[in-house]
Amino acid sequence: MNYNSTRNKKNAANWSRAIVEGIAGDGGLFVPETFPEISDLESMADMSYGDIAYEILNGFLPGLEEMPLRSIIDQAYNYKFSKNEIVPLEEVGDVHILELFYGPTSAFKDMALSILPYLLKTAMEKENIKEKLVVLTATSGDTGKAALEGFAHKERIKIIVFYPEKGVSEIQRRQMITQEGENTFVIGIEGNFDDAQRGVKYIFNHKGFKEELLKGGYRLSSANSINIGRLIPQIVYYFYSYIKLLKEGKTTLGQKINIVVPTGNFGNILAAYYGKRMGLPVNKLICASNENNVLYDFINTKVYDSRRELKLTSSPSMDILVSSNLERLLYHLSGDNCEYVKEKMEDLHTKGYYSAEDLDMEEFYGGYSTEKEVLRTIEKVFNEEYYLMDPHTAVAYNVYRKYKEETGDDTVTVIASTANPYKFGSTVAAALGLDTKDIDEFQTLELLEGRTKVAIPNPINELKSKDILHKSLCKKDEMKSTVARILQVGEQNG
Ligand SMILES: *Cc1c(COP(=O)(O)O)cnc(C)c1O
Repeated sequence: MNYNSTRNKKNAANWSRAIVEGIAGDGGLFVPETFPEISDLESMADMSYGDIAYEILNGFLPGLEEMPLRSIIDQAYNYKFSKNEIVPLEEVGDVHILELFYGPTSAFKDMALSILPYLLKTAMEKENIKEKLVVLTATSGDTGKAALEGFAHKERIKIIVFYPEKGVSEIQRRQMITQEGENTFVIGIEGNFDDAQRGVKYIFNHKGFKEELLKGGYRLSSANSINIGRLIPQIVYYFYSYIKLLKEGKTTLGQKINIVVPTGNFGNILAAYYGKRMGLPVNKLICASNENNVLYDFINTKVYDSRRELKLTSSPSMDILVSSNLERLLYHLSGDNCEYVKEKMEDLHTKGYYSAEDLDMEEFYGGYSTEKEVLRTIEKVFNEEYYLMDPHTAVAYNVYRKYKEETGDDTVTVIASTANPYKFGSTVAAALGLDTKDIDEFQTLELLEGRTKVAIPNPINELKSKDILHKSLCKKDEMKSTVARILQVGEQNG
């Protein structure tokens, strides 16, 4: 099995090269040429998370032997997650909430970033790569910390993270700037996430700079969801949730479910779509946006229009106007048409929008939640169901309520819960009406714990006593020179 570039099928790669390179040479994203079929869901009934991960990953990584793959999965999930189940599925009223936040950084990015370093290491060996790898990452808050945690102390790897200085929560910021590990670098940029992502893509596509890096013994790779190695591990938990529903008698074999995903860069929901392509019985993929509702507009009008102001919301990990992984969906929905994708991406680049009127997007439903709705949802679900959710999950929950009201569809529904509520403590406290006026972030978390009796996760609690190790800031047009300085290589301007 090969991975094609979305922009030119000639630029295909095997899995190891696709993971090492992160992005195709033509600027496109790697996509699987075919989807391995999982036909016997029933046989998975007694499998652990790791076993299911093996079944899914095995289909995408041909040539990787059973024992190394099992060992990779074992190292990724067996020690770092605070729940044995890895991803518990909680029944809350009429929905099932898939809790993806029990990894080391309390957000769903851990699901993929705890395994990516091991996949990357194996891929580097397979490709016989002699250089050091520089994992260059733009983050809206959660990817950064999860990548730092995954790659810290790893041999022959340096990890550089750019985050929007004013666009992340206080806990997210503290998590990143207290990161230990000589191979870790964290830089705040005076701009938003889209600026950070654009800067990273610019560096990736800069041929001269890449040569300069090679001379210095470095090669670039990406921990963002443009890397196909991020997406594949995310398919696993959708299968896991279905198997769990089956086991608990909440659904019957073959019966379709809805999946609701709070969406930013379109990675998590694309993994659910890939699951569907592999045989997971899915009715609707419900794409939930916050007030940066570009995807809502796209699904409803088929025009993707990024020409608007980015708003900073209480769900910062979804504050994105250019959702990278949508490029992959365009490819799949257009019948693997690279010319089509290239044209749309060119339009987006030059005009700031594109129209995709000919695409059939019936499989998706797009909705969004306002800031007010998010706060009200957190409060209401806590008061009525005694379930505490973070703002991203609340965006999804609220969109599901609208969907159900609008359509009357009562299909069994799974909502992806992407972060622990304490990662966004001040928003959650405000939603519950707690008075946090004269107290700091950590006191707010304690107040919230007292009120809700939901425990603060240890890694978040420990942040308050950690030293701040990363203080660098840079302007959005200084990202390349910052990388050059860190790695002590030439800059190759122009
Ligand atoms: C990254 C993130 C999202 C958005 O996921 P995408 O894969 O970018 O769509 C949603 N919620 C949280 C908490 C996140 O960290």
